[in-house]
Amino acid sequence: MNLARFRELLGDIPIVDDPVALKIKSRDFYWFSPILREELGALESDLIVVPRDESDVLTIARAAVATKTPVTPRGGGTGNYGQAIPLAGGALVDFSRIEGLKFVAPGRVRALAGTRIASLDRQLRDAHGVELRLHPSTARTATLGGYVAGGSGGIGSIQYGMLRDRGNVAGLRVVTLSDEPTIVDLEGDEVQQAMHAYGTNGLIISVDMATTQAVPWREMIFAFPDTLAATRFGLALAASDGLVKKLATIAHPDLAKNFKPIREFCPTGKWLVLAIVAEYSHLGVQALATEHGAEIMLDRQADESPGEPPLYEYSWGHTTLHALRADKSVTYLQSMLPAANTLDIVAKLESATGTEILHHYECVRFDGRVTVQGIPVFRYTDRDQLDRLVKAHEALGIRIANAHTWLLQNGGMKKIDDAQFAFRRQHDPYGLCNPGKMAGWHGGPALKPLGNEAAADLETTGWV
Ligand SMILES: Cc1cc2nc3c(=O)[nH]c(=O)nc-3n(C[C@H](O)[C@H](O)[C@H](O)COP(=O)(O)OP(=O)(O)OC[C@H]3O[C@@H](n4cnc5c(N)ncnc54)[C@H](O)[C@@H]3O)c2cc1C
Repeated sequence: MNLARFRELLGDIPIVDDPVALKIKSRDFYWFSPILREELGALESDLIVVPRDESDVLTIARAAVATKTPVTPRGGGTGNYGQAIPLAGGALVDFSRIEGLKFVAPGRVRALAGTRIASLDRQLRDAHGVELRLHPSTARTATLGGYVAGGSGGIGSIQYGMLRDRGNVAGLRVVTLSDEPTIVDLEGDEVQQAMHAYGTNGLIISVDMATTQAVPWREMIFAFPDTLAATRFGLALAASDGLVKKLATIAHPDLAKNFKPIREFCPTGKWLVLAIVAEYSHLGVQALATEHGAEIMLDRQADESPGEPPLYEYSWGHTTLHALRADKSVTYLQSMLPAANTLDIVAKLESATGTEILHHYECVRFDGRVTVQGIPVFRYTDRDQLDRLVKAHEALGIRIANAHTWLLQNGGMKKIDDAQFAFRRQHDPYGLCNPGKMAGWHGGPALKPLGNEAAADLETTGWV
């Protein structure tokens, strides 16, 4: 890597290299994992480049290839597997200025990769009467490119499945790091090459996402005496095809204690279901709640104007974030329960794990069937505990995606196949894109020594 030459080749593209910015921007939410905290905490990039448009991104790619400088793309920095942490120094490519809506077509929107998801969604609703099918609970900070490259599902997954499901991401425009950097437009199944690839398969410039008709939403909280009653209701809501919804989060009473701004709606000792439902499905949801003996604790119009956090900021990864704010020693797993006998497995899991785990589930469609994704929270002791808890889940047929590794394949959320390797061989022959994240990829720049074996320690089935 010849950094001095790299800087020269950038011309007038803005560069940031003050130590405080480098330290802050070289990190993401890797600290959710005690293992990643130990392994990745000291790593930093050498500089940050801030492209202003597509042509700047091409210039950066050319400069990187000419000088063999690693590049790590960065959106909002909310990834929680250390995806955006540079393992081999080099340049962080900050996409914050590559933002804006390109076009809206029936069922589809194209926006630049650095566009903040919540602001895009607001613009779509206000000006076009449509909204995104899916977004992460970090929508107010995360970018579209970062979501597609690092995320997996979220708000909307109860209706539309996971990000990886065909049709949810309709197209990607990617700048390559080949000998002659170029732009590749990926459509249909081709998007899989660069989706959930942690930026190892090129710099995403724009994303085409599926949209749906915008509707007014209601935020509701339901209370139940135990796990099974709450999960039964969550699954019934998810399976009620006539009711339009985008969230049903099932949370242990002790997790709800951390939801400070909404604590008045979270009765002590009760399991909760946090739901976002369409205004016009509201009466149907109330009827379902009555059928399930739920106490309705909150029933209000969703309001995303600045002020109170939206209800989805207590769901998905945010449930863990609130727990971590209250107790730094906790961590989490990512599980996917079988769709066939979900309730039975929930009951068995609870008796197998006792009080060690505070359970939290998200109702989703996974491979076309309604089930729950678990994000259980517990006090971390050591790697043996992680291993034991993974095994306790897997013994019940629950699949675990490893949240404690920066290696794409070990994460296990998506199949990394020959096509993806072939794409990289062609478009990043020097392994400059976020080096060190794709296991088995050789030929990239030398990496600073890292305890890679630690990441491989935790063997999990994955969700593939
Ligand atoms: C509290 C919390 C809640 C979360 N909730 C969810 C959730 O509901 N659903 C979910 O799926 N995830 C969730 N996540 C994970 C994370 O928020 C998502 O993956 C998020 O969308 C990442 O977007 P970002 O812009 O912050 O990406 P970053 O963290 O900046 O980047 C993520 C990855 O994408 C790469 N990348 C970024 N931009 C580009 C680009 N333009 N081209 C190529 N590669 C790029 C980065 O190199 C990195 O590997 C959560 C995380 C936290 C901390």
